[in-house]
Amino acid sequence: MRLLLLGGTSEARELAALLVEAGVDVTTSLAGRVARPRLPVGRVRIGGFGGVPGLRAALASYDAVVDATHPFALGMTANAAAACTDLPLLRLERPGWDPDPAWRYAATHEEAAERVAELGERPFLTVGRQELARFVPRLERRAVLARVVDVPELALPGTWSLLTSRGPYTLDGELDLMGGHRADVLVTKDSGGAYTRPKMEAAGLLGVPVVVVRRPPGPTGVPTVHDVTAAFAWVTALG
Ligand code: NAP
Repeated sequence: MRLLLLGGTSEARELAALLVEAGVDVTTSLAGRVARPRLPVGRVRIGGFGGVPGLRAALASYDAVVDATHPFALGMTANAAAACTDLPLLRLERPGWDPDPAWRYAATHEEAAERVAELGERPFLTVGRQELARFVPRLERRAVLARVVDVPELALPGTWSLLTSRGPYTLDGELDLMGGHRADVLVTKDSGGAYTRPKMEAAGLLGVPVVVVRRPPGPTGVPTVHDVTAAFAWVTALG
């Protein structure tokens, strides 16, 4: 049983650890976006496959695929659904955060930028490096604090500050950071999970409004589970 595990998430690392322990031959695939990725146990390959044709060719070496990429990694998830016509594919997607009535939701990052521009002068932006450009037009004169894992290639407006760090975060740390910046609005995607959740609690305690970018719909026709235990059961049932 040779499993290709499309990773880049804590759930993928947890699943790899369980499967390696159970004797499954797991190869985790990482996009190679971050400079120093957290590596899972088991085999690891790094870099894109070259679209659907490249992925299809790579699948000759595997018996099944688990797509445990981030809920906002739309391209990889679509490619996996398109390429896995002849072998089993499971989507492992962590649940979004339980909605808080105080949060404002936006369908896109551009809509989130509009909402933020109406709400605050000192936004705390936690949407990831690749999305920053979509906030620049509406927020280029605001005192934005943008937190990212790696420095973006994009030249940021002079009023913006960049903080490079990686979760998990703590409530005390988030209170200090948001208080120190005097953040008056928080922007996040609905990533779900525990690693980045404390900023939402900090915003609640500080009375800072929260704008949440809704997650895109998952792939259609692909069996989907929402926790690592269910994904482990699916893989081991394949034999
Ligand atoms: P994406 O937009 O869905 O993917 C763009 C391209 O990057 C894919 O077509 C593929 O290239 C390559 N790629 C993505 N994930 C890959 C993987 N696990 N293994 C090999 N190639 C991969 O992805 P993204 O949003 O840039 O995310 C990149 C990675 O970071 C993902 O693995 C994801 O789990 C992780 N991540 C993303 C976010 C986020 O907010 N988007 C947050 C945390 C972690 P080819 O077409 O050449 O195969």
